[in-house]
Amino acid sequence: MATKIKSGEVVSVLKKEIQDYGQDLKMEEVGQILEVGDGIARIFGLETAMAGELLEFPGGIMGMVFNLEEGSVGAVILGSYLKLKEGDTVKRTGRVVEVPVGRELLGRVVDPLGRPIDDGPPLEGLATRPVEYLAPGIAGRQPVDEPLQTGIKPIDAMIPIGRGQRELIIGDRSTGKTAIAIDTIINQKGKNCICVYVAVGQKGSTVRNVVEILREAGAMDYTIVVAATASDPSPLQFIAPYAGCAMAEHFMYTEDEDTLCVYDDLTKQANAYRELCLLLRRPPGREAYPGDVFYLHSRLLERSARLKNHADGKKAGSLTALPIIETQEGEVSAYIPTNVISITDGQIYLQPNLFFAGIRPAIDVGVSVSRVGGKAQIPGMKKISGGLKLDLASYWELEAFAQLGTELDAATQAKLDRGKAMVELLKQDQYSPLAVEDQVAIIYAGTSGYLDKVPLNRIKEYEERFFAFIREKHAGILEAIRTTGKLEGENKDALDAAATEFTKTFLG
Ligand code: ATP
Ligand code: MG
Repeated sequence: MATKIKSGEVVSVLKKEIQDYGQDLKMEEVGQILEVGDGIARIFGLETAMAGELLEFPGGIMGMVFNLEEGSVGAVILGSYLKLKEGDTVKRTGRVVEVPVGRELLGRVVDPLGRPIDDGPPLEGLATRPVEYLAPGIAGRQPVDEPLQTGIKPIDAMIPIGRGQRELIIGDRSTGKTAIAIDTIINQKGKNCICVYVAVGQKGSTVRNVVEILREAGAMDYTIVVAATASDPSPLQFIAPYAGCAMAEHFMYTEDEDTLCVYDDLTKQANAYRELCLLLRRPPGREAYPGDVFYLHSRLLERSARLKNHADGKKAGSLTALPIIETQEGEVSAYIPTNVISITDGQIYLQPNLFFAGIRPAIDVGVSVSRVGGKAQIPGMKKISGGLKLDLASYWELEAFAQLGTELDAATQAKLDRGKAMVELLKQDQYSPLAVEDQVAIIYAGTSGYLDKVPLNRIKEYEERFFAFIREKHAGILEAIRTTGKLEGENKDALDAAATEFTKTFLG
């Protein structure tokens, strides 16, 4: 269809074109590297750069603005700094550091910039989120009201974790910290919870093992692994937890999903941060950490939340955090441990002497706490956990006496025996999380005295055969605990009858 154009219109169009000519020209602010090394660079000429802005170095290497100084900018290099040299040009991108997000990441192993490091296909065209994001405010949150089952008996019974909570796992090296986090991820199967495992400063082979274990357990279907290994530059180790958090946030904010983030571990992140700050000459404080190292962890952990439900009553998402901290010789009063203890809603404390005594998981229940999860615990578990704590507390108290070889009266001896049985019962193998109804049934059997006559070395066998027996003959009992969350009335009587019957045949 031809349109008639009047000459006057042509003139005005031409005039406008002339006026706008050149507006498409992109202004790019470029700077030059003044000095580079050890994962950092000092750059001249980026006067208007923002803090946290993404920078582009030659060869596609990215960096992030870290220090804004008079006359220069200090940046950390998120890649191989060995390829960069003085005088190289640096481009501003105008964006803050972002990572790709979305379902495509599930089952993948990525670096802290979201680039795949497994053998899978490239991740392209995904939506992105900034790695640093403001935590939701008070009005945007609601109390933690739903359990996040770890499948680990002593935790779910006595140190319960709720969805949206921050629970610290703390202990010396090789005391089973990672094991607890991995079992928790495995236990989320079929529980509508997306998991992100962030590995910071670990050996590549260790991370690979974790991925293998998760894959074998079928847990990679709902899990993202973000890895910055010990051989990666410190800037990547520093941003890895924020990147993992951003990936989980996507599911919490835009898909109303429950999520779980494991930061393994924040001690190494703090060390990477300290290194960067010292290199960029930020003033060192206590233990040579920069003054704002508290903020490093607080702004990360504050991003965990149970979001307030939508106005129409639809459930909103949550982000549960399981940060891990490694202590030296059990020293929880060091700088970084005390910081993170004060930021979290409780801690699971692992003891080397328990670990070596064969009590695994090596959780010291006396000093481990959960300050919010109890409200989210299912009623059946809440009811029996009181008795369990009491049994254990009186056991620890009496154990010291017993070691002195004093003659004990029958009642005291009975308490001691019960405690020993409960300690034995709370042991659990790795990679075998237990459903909450199973936990309720077996702990109930223990606190009700059914195991009192069982020799200690047969408690594990008792437990295994007890589950087989109940599942085969009384599956309704477990089903009822699962659906109602309670253990009372007829169902409790049925469990008593079943436990009596089983114990009789077991002891023969
Ligand atoms: P690191 O400080 O090296 O990160 P960690 O505290 O994360 O160590 P893990 O690697 O989880 O500890 O566990 C240390 C060792 O203890 C591993 O060999 C693991 O298999 C074993 N282990 C952990 N939990 C249990 C358990 N419940 N039962 C038996 N063995 C366990
Ligand atoms: Mg570990």
